[in-house]
Formats: sequence, structure tokens, C-alpha cells
Amino acid sequence: MIPPKGIIDTLEKENSFLILTHSTPDGDALGSSLALKIFLEKLNKKVEFYAEKPIPVQYRFLPGIDSIKDLKNLSFENIDVLILLDCNEVNRVTYERKILEKIELFSGKRIVIDHHITDREEKKSLTWLDPQKAATGILIYYLIKNMNVELNEEIAYNLYTALIVDTGNFQFDNTTEEAFLIARELVKAGARPSYIYEQCFESWGESRFKLFLKMLSNLELLPPLAVSYISKEDFQETHTTEPDTERFVEFIRILKDINLTALFREIEKDFIKVSLRSKGNIDVSSIAREFGGGGHKNAAGYRIKSSIRDAREQLLEKLKKYNLL
Ligand code: 5GP
Ligand code: MN
Repeated sequence: MIPPKGIIDTLEKENSFLILTHSTPDGDALGSSLALKIFLEKLNKKVEFYAEKPIPVQYRFLPGIDSIKDLKNLSFENIDVLILLDCNEVNRVTYERKILEKIELFSGKRIVIDHHITDREEKKSLTWLDPQKAATGILIYYLIKNMNVELNEEIAYNLYTALIVDTGNFQFDNTTEEAFLIARELVKAGARPSYIYEQCFESWGESRFKLFLKMLSNLELLPPLAVSYISKEDFQETHTTEPDTERFVEFIRILKDINLTALFREIEKDFIKVSLRSKGNIDVSSIAREFGGGGHKNAAGYRIKSSIRDAREQLLEKLKKYNLL
């Protein structure tokens, strides 16, 4: 796999970079960004990585995590190139208008490296978009290989995390031979699978577990669909926030007759974030795109301004239209 020449040339030629990723960053967003940052720093480049804070506890073990700057303090001073990772639209970075405006105003070069399906990619950017890849971390792996830099332990930890978070520890449909081959290289370079697995997947606090119980008690089974929600009150009562719901939607497809799962989260009154998951050939990214969102065939999402009840109704209607229900 050879990365686009324009991207390699830009990384070689320019001196200062600023990395941004999507809102509520997950293991691929953080792992691929930190790996890219560490790699570029090995090439003596100046690199800033801004993300939403606080960083979810399960990712605080990642090498380089303390170098992440708070997106609230975003500054493009002395920056030559903006790199957008694990998303392909600036408006995935944040909901905050002021920050989005600042990003739009940046007049330097832009690079996008991502693996999401899209029909609305950023026009002004050098774009490397490969929806066949299980994680953005895989693209970063190829970038490092092609620029002849040795993997070190810090890069390996970050890229291995990207890989297991986006493949569900090598369970999802995107788990290819390539994913295993790269995992092997990362383990050779020092990544410790059991330690990284435990940090990512077995590190819930009690409050997060209580929130999970709320989601289970709100569960509605409409085979092949399982749907649940978390209300603002559920978050308040358990002292949790949205990042604590990471992976919740994946647990409900444990049921044999369930091929499709949906989780509604009330972030604010009449502002809902929806996560969709599917098994096999059911393409939830096209459903999400109909609502203005996106993602992958088996994992997608969107945001909607409505109550949980209306969002549920609208989704059910759409699924019926697609003969999925
Ligand atoms: P999650 O359900 O874990 O938040 O997201 C699942 C997948 O869908 C991820 O790949 C994520 O990037 C994508 N996704 C989630 N929400 C949105 C959204 O509002 N817009 C777009 N374009 N993609 C989303
Ligand atoms: Mn990803």
C-alpha cells in the first residue's frame, strides 16, 4: 500500500503540523493521531495535536497522551499544515461554532487521512480516504513504513490500540488478514496485546457500569432490531457523560436474533446522538447518511435535533422503508 505522493511530499517538505480528529475521540482517533505525532516528531517536525478534553480514562495509558492540547484553546499560530484524522469533514471535529469557524479560516495546506465512507469529502484537501481499511491507524502504519521510519514502542502501542478499538479486538467484519499482519508487526515492535486490551476494554469505573445497567433496563427488543436509550437523567443520576457510552451499542447485538442495534443518547434536551450497529450485510452507514451522519457498513451514527421518542419513530420508519424491519 503506497500513500498518495502529495501527502508524503507535504509531510517531508513542511515543518509544522496541527492534527485534529473527530469529536468524542475513540481509540483509533487518539491512537492514529498520537502515532502520527510521534512519527513526525522523529522527523524533527513541530506537531500539535488538539482534541476534546477530558480524554476518556480508558485511553490515558496511551504514550504521548499528556501532550494533547485542549481543543478549546485551538491556535493555528505558526502552523503550515492541518491534518484531519479518522474523519473527513471539519464539522465532525466539534459542535462548537466558534472553533469550527477558526478551523475554516485556516489558510494553510490541509491533509485528510481517513477510512469512513463518504459522499461529502473536504474539497480543498489532499485526501487519502480508504474505506476498505479497518482503522485509520492502518493508514498511518503504511505512511510510517513508506517514509522509512522504524516503528518504536510508543508508536506500536498507539497503532495497536487504534486497530483493536476499530475491529472490536479482531471480531468485526473489518478484521482482515492485513489487520493481523499489521498487528504482528506492532507486537514485534513492542505492543503488549493483553495489557492494551485490558486498558481499552476492561477498565470501566463503577459509574460507567451503572450507566450500562440503565441502558440494559431501557432495552427494547424488536427482532431483528434491539433499541435502547440513555436519557439526560440517566447521565445525571450516574454522574457520567457521553464518552462513557463508548461500545455500549455493541453489547446488545450479543443476542442471536438481533442483527441491528440502535442506541439513542440525549446529550442535551432535544439533541440526540444515535449509534447504529449491524451484523453481516446490513449497511447502517446508508441509514446514518440519510440522517446527515455517516460511518461504516456495520457501524455508523448521526445526530438529530428531536426528542428520544421522535428519533426512535423516525429511525423505525426509515428501517421499514429499507425493508430492514
Ligand atoms: P459511534 O456510534 O461509535 O459514535 O460511531 C460509529 C461510526 O459512525 C464511527 O465510525 C463514527 O465516525 C461514525 N459516526 C458517528 N456519528 C456520526 C456523525 O454524526 N456523522 C458522521 N459523519 N459519522 C458519524
Ligand atoms: Mn476509525
